[in-house]
Amino acid sequence: MVKAVVGANWGDEGKGKITDMLAENADIIVRFQGGANAGHTIVNDYGKFALHSLPSGVFYNHTTSVIGNGVALSVPRISAEIKEIIEGGVPMPKIRISDRAQMVMSYHVLLDQYEEERLAGKSFGSTKSGIAPFYSDKFAKIGFQVSELWDDEEALREKIANVVLKKNVLIENLYHKEPLREEDIYAELMDYKEKIAPYVCDTAALIQDALKEGKEVLLEGQLGTMKDPDHGIYPMVTSSSTLAGYGAVGAGVPPYEIKQVIAVCKAYSSAVGAGEFVSEILEEDVADELRRRGGDGGEYGATTGRPRRMGWFDCVASKYGCRLQGATDVAFTVLDVLGYLDEIPVCVGYEIDGEVTTDFPTTARLKKAKPVYEMLPGWKCEITGIRKYEDLPENCRKYVEFIEEKIGFPITMVSNGPGRSDIIYR
Ligand code: GDP
Repeated sequence: MVKAVVGANWGDEGKGKITDMLAENADIIVRFQGGANAGHTIVNDYGKFALHSLPSGVFYNHTTSVIGNGVALSVPRISAEIKEIIEGGVPMPKIRISDRAQMVMSYHVLLDQYEEERLAGKSFGSTKSGIAPFYSDKFAKIGFQVSELWDDEEALREKIANVVLKKNVLIENLYHKEPLREEDIYAELMDYKEKIAPYVCDTAALIQDALKEGKEVLLEGQLGTMKDPDHGIYPMVTSSSTLAGYGAVGAGVPPYEIKQVIAVCKAYSSAVGAGEFVSEILEEDVADELRRRGGDGGEYGATTGRPRRMGWFDCVASKYGCRLQGATDVAFTVLDVLGYLDEIPVCVGYEIDGEVTTDFPTTARLKKAKPVYEMLPGWKCEITGIRKYEDLPENCRKYVEFIEEKIGFPITMVSNGPGRSDIIYR
């Protein structure tokens, strides 16, 4: 059976914690999209870790962690992460890297930086990890697939010459920077080969064989529906699909095997980077307080440390977010954080050109949307440590049930703390 853990919002919903928790009963955990541009923060018995490339299963001995073909593989980043967890006392995890994954090259990172510099104030708020240039090259068919590291030297050098020629036109004429050298790119690829050789295999076959043996596979998504290039807030999106359905492509599993889709929704909203964010809290002190109290140690980027933009729960975006994910279950996270509020605004509709809608619009219309709020009473107490749904304060249950009704998908898990055991099943 395949289960997917994916984001229904803008990312940072707490997917890492839910995956880490479900990983206990899983055999294989797969990253199927994205790169080291976003991160999960995981708190477990070994300590607190920020993972960017590695799947959240690396903390268990019994799981295999797979980097699927759909991932933007940064070899330096993944090597550093492996080193970091080992130094943190975690036993060496079993890691497999798809021979069909492509590699983020140093020039992708440079091009990302140069482009953000060029755009200055009008930038997309990229994390400058090279993700957009990487995926552009993948689909322009000039990317480097892991399997090519074992290709003939001559073929590889010929490809490098072509890539360098094209990249240098941009680098020299648009960005006015140092040109790339073929020799450096070849050396970079050979260094990557040495570093990842022990992990490389046909991961799609590995997963399919495991499924035949009745094993459990967990697909771990990065970011959330709003950042999907097709269904999100284009162009302020990421460069690979964030939807559970893409797991079939990015991991090479049959689509019909994905039986459970756990859409992770955070009890309030946060977003990073530019882009429309209808339920954003505009009062700086109110946003600041939620940011400070949010998550586990504040709502600041796991990769960049940037303060996240804060908002109230958005039923319009989350209903859409769950629908596009094909949610069978909703995991409602970070509910404990809201315990300090007397009243909690919940965005229940968007007003666009004088009309109220609960359907999430395309970006041009989204720009005009104003939030319609309903106020719900707070519960004014600590709820971390509670294990049974009935034991939650009444107003807290009402908050969960109100949102469940508005989004139209079943909230089957409520997360009330950052730890593995801070979870209430309904
Ligand atoms: P991800 O990328 O979706 O995994 O999310 P992040 O790691 O960026 O953000 C989630 C943050 O919230 C992490 O610091 C988690 O440890 C923390 N977290 C997850 N679930 C809960 C929860 O229920 N309560 C609290 N207080 N923190 C949580």
